Amino acid sequence: MKPFLFSAVSLLLPALCSAQSTPAEVAAELVSRARTGSDAMALIGSLTTDVGPRQAGSENEKRAAAWAQQRFKELGADRVWVETFSLTNGWARGIERAEVLSPALQPLAVTALGGSTATPPEGLVAEIALFTNYDGLLAAPAGSLAKKIAVVTQPMPRRRDGSGYHATGKIRSSGPAEASRRGAIAYLCRSLATDNHRLPHTGQTDYRDATRIPAAALSVPDALLLERLAAEGAPVRIKLVLTPHDLGPVTSQNVTAEFKGRERPEEIVVLGAHLDSWDLGTGALDDGVGVAIVMAAAKLVRELPHPPRRTIRVVLFGAEEPGLLGGAAYAQAHHSELSHYVLVAEPDEGQGPVYRLRTGVANTNEPSLKAIVAALAPLGISLGDNHALGDSDVRYLARGGVPTVALDLDGTDYFDFHHTADDTLDKISPERIGQTTAAYAVLAYLAAELGGDYRAP
Ligand SMILES: [Zn+2]
Repeated sequence: MKPFLFSAVSLLLPALCSAQSTPAEVAAELVSRARTGSDAMALIGSLTTDVGPRQAGSENEKRAAAWAQQRFKELGADRVWVETFSLTNGWARGIERAEVLSPALQPLAVTALGGSTATPPEGLVAEIALFTNYDGLLAAPAGSLAKKIAVVTQPMPRRRDGSGYHATGKIRSSGPAEASRRGAIAYLCRSLATDNHRLPHTGQTDYRDATRIPAAALSVPDALLLERLAAEGAPVRIKLVLTPHDLGPVTSQNVTAEFKGRERPEEIVVLGAHLDSWDLGTGALDDGVGVAIVMAAAKLVRELPHPPRRTIRVVLFGAEEPGLLGGAAYAQAHHSELSHYVLVAEPDEGQGPVYRLRTGVANTNEPSLKAIVAALAPLGISLGDNHALGDSDVRYLARGGVPTVALDLDGTDYFDFHHTADDTLDKISPERIGQTTAAYAVLAYLAAELGGDYRAP
């Protein structure tokens, strides 16, 4: 691995705010430092260049964990450690090819969904049964899809808060299982996506107790093509070749770094992100950028003349993509210490900017919360509701009673690239991640310095 050069500009920080500065002044200085050049760009550049794709349980995910350990040490962490956990079944992509055989000859851009089973090596050929929405699939009677390839083409709306993804998500997460229960021999869905490029978006599916059938996502233009062909009325026949395979038991790992507090080190502010990614791109937006942001934010706070009162812990979770497995393993392993966790937050919806702060706390009148909101206001961040549940991996910590903050990232264009071969470094904007890093640095610093209690009602 190449030597890593951190930005020299941040070395100026101790000279710019002194031990006498108020927390609000320090927060303003953190914003300024983050926006003029934190280590976030260098970190995301290195992760996507020197490691690349980091599929859960893969050799490259382990290389990413080694990368993170090394970087944390260079960032000045007091303690860095790795916790390994098991996945019952790893999964690897194979050949993926599809074409319309009749009534026209047309290639289709597809990619297997995570967990998909394979077609026969020579592929399978079948007529499609197309549903323009998920409810249409659910309304199909048992057995009605026998010998057919079920196709669901419900579009995903573009929304800043990413809610379109969750509103449409079942076409990917549950569609294959529902099609299988109705007798289908394979399943295709329109990508959960807001772009119109001919690149399909992968993502995990969950068969639960249904028989696994080959399942893939179509690029948006190809989903529209199938809709037009089906609307013409003649049977549409497709050939589908998918050769993914199960790897059996594999291991993944969470990498954790601790930046010790000066007065109450046992009280912990947790920042999370996930280190694994899908295999098609280099996981720049999902979630390499989150990794870079929380690492860079922790380093900005570390460079202050005095560490904050409480400890800041950064957890880089493994195996998020197959179903939040690293988050679940972490919450289980650390169950007994959750009462010491002050607050938890995780960026996992692209690079930002952050436009809103939502809380999931018992005490919304806690004065330090008001100080955090005031310090974030100059970044254009407004206060939202108190219904935050904990994003991605940290959901299990929130369920375990840990107060949570969601710094909502502007996800307007996130699903143009999410889970595609196009999720690469060139999509990352220094201005956008500068603002997001600033917000995380301010949140971590003030939650650690001001000593607020977000649990007491
Ligand atoms: Zn993610």
